[in-house]
Amino acid sequence: MYFILAITLVFASSYGQYSVANQLSSAGTAKRTVNALLVIDVQNCFISGSLALPHSPADVIPIINNLLKTIPFDLVVYSHDWHPSNHISFFNNLNDRRQYIKPGTKVPDQPYQVVTYTGPKVETEQMLWPTHCVQNTGDANLHASLVQTTLKGEIFHVRKGIDPDLDSYSAFYDNQKLYKTELDDILRQRNVTRVFVVGLATDYCVAYTALDANDLNYATYVVEDACRGVTNASVQAQIAYMKRQGVKIIHSNEVRSLISGAALTQLSFSLMLAVLFVFYFTN
Ligand SMILES: [Zn+2]
Repeated sequence: MYFILAITLVFASSYGQYSVANQLSSAGTAKRTVNALLVIDVQNCFISGSLALPHSPADVIPIINNLLKTIPFDLVVYSHDWHPSNHISFFNNLNDRRQYIKPGTKVPDQPYQVVTYTGPKVETEQMLWPTHCVQNTGDANLHASLVQTTLKGEIFHVRKGIDPDLDSYSAFYDNQKLYKTELDDILRQRNVTRVFVVGLATDYCVAYTALDANDLNYATYVVEDACRGVTNASVQAQIAYMKRQGVKIIHSNEVRSLISGAALTQLSFSLMLAVLFVFYFTN
């Protein structure tokens, strides 16, 4: 009987791993839950530099570090806002792009206002920011306190906003969705099914990344206390919008149970199968 129990446990445990706790893909085939942490733009510019956020952005670093040091994500991706100095999003470049300002629209006289450009690539309403995260400057470096190691799995870095004429809040696409970054390919090649999004800023790059992840059919969780925004009003609006779209908003202390919960479900299913098989063979 013990021999049968042992064989059954081995069988049930491997079967359980690939069944109950796993999600069904759109094609209907079983997929193991694979977890990625997306660390969005935890760069000097947004913490203490040229576009420092107002609500203690450095406070997210120990929270993110704790996740990195204690949760076994299958992979971790760090995104970097990475602009050339002539980037479309900089207020200081408004004059150089004057020929593209749409006639009859308001011309901003300071940063944090929206301009309508007719080109050079596409017509776009562009929020004008202070010059920030210029490529290969200290301002664009990841913050020195941010942990860049994982308990397991691989680490990737994705740079965005590189095209002078396109802004890119999301780590997946530019704002016009003309081009993809390599992020979706990285996640798909490693069979990622679920992403946890942390970093800066909640109402822009975190929200855009999470909404795209959700659209791309990753189960998407934003870890709210591990993010900081630009303004409270737009943070609240984006959180509400993300929830309506199906993005889960959670606290950092829920991440562990979500990941180990799946493992526990796998184990309980395996044990249940084992008991059923033993009962069948011994009666
Ligand atoms: Zn930017």
